[in-house]
Amino acid sequence: VTQEHTQPEVNIGLVGHVDHGKTTLVQALSGSWTDQHSEEMKRGISIRLGYADATFRYCPDMDEPECYTVEEECPNGNESEVLRTVSFVDAPGHETLMATMLSGAALMDGAVLVVSATEDVPQAQTEEHLMALDIIGIDNIVIAQNKVDLVNRDRAVDHYNQIKEFVSGTVAEDAPIVPVSAGQNVNMDLLIGAIEETIPTPDRSNADDPRMFVARSFDINRPGTTWDSLSGGVIGGSLVDGKLSVDDEIQLRPGRQVDEGGKTEWRSLETTVRSLQAGSASVDEVTPGGLIGVGTGLDPSLTKGDALAGQVAGKPGTLPPTREAFEMEVDLLDRVVGEDGSVDEISTGEPLMLTVGTATTVGAVTSARSGECEVKLKRPVCAADGAKIAINRRVGARWRLIGVGTLRD
Ligand code: GDP
Ligand code: MG
Repeated sequence: VTQEHTQPEVNIGLVGHVDHGKTTLVQALSGSWTDQHSEEMKRGISIRLGYADATFRYCPDMDEPECYTVEEECPNGNESEVLRTVSFVDAPGHETLMATMLSGAALMDGAVLVVSATEDVPQAQTEEHLMALDIIGIDNIVIAQNKVDLVNRDRAVDHYNQIKEFVSGTVAEDAPIVPVSAGQNVNMDLLIGAIEETIPTPDRSNADDPRMFVARSFDINRPGTTWDSLSGGVIGGSLVDGKLSVDDEIQLRPGRQVDEGGKTEWRSLETTVRSLQAGSASVDEVTPGGLIGVGTGLDPSLTKGDALAGQVAGKPGTLPPTREAFEMEVDLLDRVVGEDGSVDEISTGEPLMLTVGTATTVGAVTSARSGECEVKLKRPVCAADGAKIAINRRVGARWRLIGVGTLRD
């Protein structure tokens, strides 16, 4: 099997309310458990954002939708052909992990919104996740109406109409709604067909400079580890542009905090790619799509415990600037998801939680006018002019998504 066959070419987010069946659906499509991996590198990355790869296949001599499968052998005994390998990013549904979902959204090319037919629409995270997709600008969406094995036909139709009404006027307005049972493996062929149709592989030019969003980082040198050859720090995440090869020089921003002469500043890190992991295979080169692990020459103490999560890696000299403060245009939601009442204007002095790419940071508003504000960050981010920012405000005990910002130089 060549690398082209094993490396996924598109990242698909699994979003939706807790217990609606996201992990079960990924299992049904990929045969792997996103919550459970054997290898240390893979496991380390998957805890925070569960990735699982699935290879979609096609039986040439069969009709739609029966022609779509994940099996190598077709129902008629013939061998299936590979369509493409996709990588699912299984976002956790627990509400306190909204920031994780938003960070994951930066890596998604499309999404499957899982909605259980056993509950009325919308449940809290169904609504919040859809809003997040809208804000991040992910409009290639398929809706899986799950657990149809647990309801009767009337209820399924009623629930379908609830979904229709809920998505009306949103980014998912025209999204196909596919009734499935992930638990019983029903209609997986229809779902694969809808994903193939609705979530195409983005047109990416491999000629561009590599750009990687780091979602995790760790030190694999623990007692008992057998990865003797990988003693440097490891970063995990997705390549969103270009290609990366073993021996490439890379730069990471913001890098690390340096305290010198009573002053604190952030300095980018530079290192060499020592090894690459795509899916579960060791490779010499990676292209965008799926989860990658990059073994570097960095001191593992720098990568320990997700210290570099949220950073951006690329060819030295090509990365956007590191910003400790910035100005953004602000678009507020009509109302806070899950709460009554409209969203108040942002005010000077208030703290906001901002998600920029895979980075989540708290910022204090230093100046606010209608439709724009300036923030000073606790931890800097590496972000380009025009970057989209998810804006969260503290409401009661938790952070709530209140709008989207656009970074302005
Ligand atoms: P997640 O929180 O969205 O990842 O949900 P899980 O995949 O963990 O599923 C929650 C529960 O629903 C588990 O007990 C699953 O076995 C069950 N479940 C998921 N999909 C189906 C389905 O299609 N039918 C039935 N009957 N149960 C399901
Ligand atoms: Mg789950």
